Amino acid sequence: MNRTYIITGSASGIGAATAELLTSRGERVIGIDLRGADIEADLSTPAGRTAAAAQAVELAGGSIDAVIACAGISAPIPLTVAVNYFGVTELLDALAPTLAKSAAPRAVVVSSMASLQANSPELVEALLSGDEELSLKIGQQLADEGPRSGYLNYPSSKRALSRWVRRESITPTWAGAGIPLNAVAPGTVISAMTTQLLATPEGREMVDSNVPMPLNYHSEAVVLARLLVWLASEENTHVTGQTIYADGGADATLRGDDIWS
Ligand code: NAD
Repeated sequence: MNRTYIITGSASGIGAATAELLTSRGERVIGIDLRGADIEADLSTPAGRTAAAAQAVELAGGSIDAVIACAGISAPIPLTVAVNYFGVTELLDALAPTLAKSAAPRAVVVSSMASLQANSPELVEALLSGDEELSLKIGQQLADEGPRSGYLNYPSSKRALSRWVRRESITPTWAGAGIPLNAVAPGTVISAMTTQLLATPEGREMVDSNVPMPLNYHSEAVVLARLLVWLASEENTHVTGQTIYADGGADATLRGDDIWS
């Protein structure tokens, strides 16, 4: 029996590779993106998220087996937290009741190895409290201080997202409804998001010093797609609340062998 998957960010990069992989396996995919998708919606706004969720349920005929949330941006502005955090968490919350009706429901989001980087603890807390107005205000203050501070919008959005996954995964909405909820954290992936950065030797050097990848170096988007597809498959029955670093060894390099004490 085919499963129905909702994929955000389906028009490009990791989302597009995931949609392609699932489609090639005969699964049904409903994509959400700003343009070039089954559902064209702006996940940076509450109205866009509500509309996207309603259309997804309608197009799926009320039956959704998995949600894979890939849409994201890395600009040094507050729009980044709106898309990367609320564009994921609010959409998942809106789709959870429909998802719960599936025989094997799954949810996976795309975090980043940037979840390990320096961030704004104040912004992370505001995000986790669900206060979008305050989060955007803090994000704007960071942006006003210049690009270095503005960049903190990105790692803060991903740290909060990975923490949200861990916190929510064991609640009645997710574990209680039999829904594994996980995150995948890529290192450097060759996609539209990184094209410009990786185009110059200086850009590559900057990226590689922050994201060391001793195993197989930068990855193609399909590498992440394969992991997302497994986490969203019926085979995954007990992995939940995890952020799985598919990063060529960046996490192990940066954090070392003892992350438990
Ligand atoms: P990408 O730019 O190729 O794709 C991102 C997609 O998200 C695009 O199709 C874009 O239109 C969509 N999107 C952006 N804003 C949106 C909005 N407001 N509403 C709806 N859709 C929107 O980038 P990618 O590399 O495939 O990134 C996918 C995810 O992977 C992102 O969450 C990103 O943060 C994460 N990530 C990427 C890398 C990398 O090196 N590329 C590394 C770590 C994490």
